[in-house]
Amino acid sequence: MATNKLAFIEEDVAALKDQGLYINIRTIQSPQQAWTVVDGKKVLNLCSNNYLGLANHPRLKEAAKRAIEQYGVGPAAVRSIAGTMDIHLELEERLARFKGAEGVISFQSGFYANLAVIPALVERGDGIFSDELNHASIIDGCRLSRAEIVRFPHCDPAGLEKVLAERRKEFRRAIVITDGVFSMDGDIAPLDKEYEIAERYDCLFMVDDAHGEGVLGRGGRGIVDHYGLHGRVDVEVGTLSKAFGVVGGCVAGKKLITDYLRQRARPFLFSSAATPADVAACIAAVDLLEESTELVDRLWENTRFFKAEMRRLGFDIGASVTPITPVMLGEAPLAKEFSRQLFEEGVFAMSLGFPTVPRGKARIRVMISAMLERSDLEYGLQAFERVGKRLGVIA
Ligand SMILES: *Cc1c(COP(=O)(O)O)cnc(C)c1O
Repeated sequence: MATNKLAFIEEDVAALKDQGLYINIRTIQSPQQAWTVVDGKKVLNLCSNNYLGLANHPRLKEAAKRAIEQYGVGPAAVRSIAGTMDIHLELEERLARFKGAEGVISFQSGFYANLAVIPALVERGDGIFSDELNHASIIDGCRLSRAEIVRFPHCDPAGLEKVLAERRKEFRRAIVITDGVFSMDGDIAPLDKEYEIAERYDCLFMVDDAHGEGVLGRGGRGIVDHYGLHGRVDVEVGTLSKAFGVVGGCVAGKKLITDYLRQRARPFLFSSAATPADVAACIAAVDLLEESTELVDRLWENTRFFKAEMRRLGFDIGASVTPITPVMLGEAPLAKEFSRQLFEEGVFAMSLGFPTVPRGKARIRVMISAMLERSDLEYGLQAFERVGKRLGVIA
């Protein structure tokens, strides 16, 4: 009799359900906005990465429509063969100027940007010194490179120095890689100190600023701008899929590197280019950010208000210094139940459990956005208060 070759999947799914870790994926039925239709219900959206409300912005939509009229819908090729349109280059020049970087190369997503850049810079025999909480896409980029991965303690310059002192000499070439903003906790890497140590140990230095792009720095220019490290950080990965409101990724940094990636980055060479509509919408996002800091300012104002009120209510919101607001709940089933009850109260805020966060550190992650009015934030706070009291999370 034939064995059930798919039994391992059934067992894994059963285990996920058992541990309360099975993800029930909700369906969005309207644009991403303050009040979004989710599974047939209009709810306050507190969990998308639409930091600046650009995902449904009229200027970006207009730019995308015009690009479709002018260029059609598909690039029909990879960048290195026939897929580089003038608007791809325009986006890269505009991003470089906006961020004060020597060069920028764009990719189809932030995930791709990490898969592109890491294997281009290090290979078997080289070393990668990686913050222990780095994003999955960094980890996958590291694995693809075949370089040896040495983890260092989270956001700990002294810990980084210790592992470099012990192990740097084993490798010909080495790179230090960290998230800029850590997406689950909302803390930021001590980039100035880590950069200085990487320099001293003759390592390349790379930061993935997916959650800092459009959020940190002057007018949302990102974490390198926040620390004033222009021209020094070798690689700054960014995403155009979060605050920029579209989909895409980029690498900003030394021009020698960004030009080299056009020769060596596999997602650039072997996967089709971003669509004209996406690229044009991203250019419109740069326009908006260059014109005014209003959206970024409102994002931070909303963040300060919401966090202060959550603390006052007695919630543990961790050590975040960014608009990412983790509401720490402990075990995954409690976090799931909290999220379910919030949804009943008209608030959409998903729970996150293992493997997205460590076991026992399940949480609801609230994402603050410039698109939220003060009355929206107050509505959300009242829902958190009611559910928190009902479930005994706050007194
Ligand atoms: C979201 C995220 C990415 C992926 O970006 P996409 O554009 O959505 O593919 C990469 N790195 C980090 C740190 C992220 O938070």
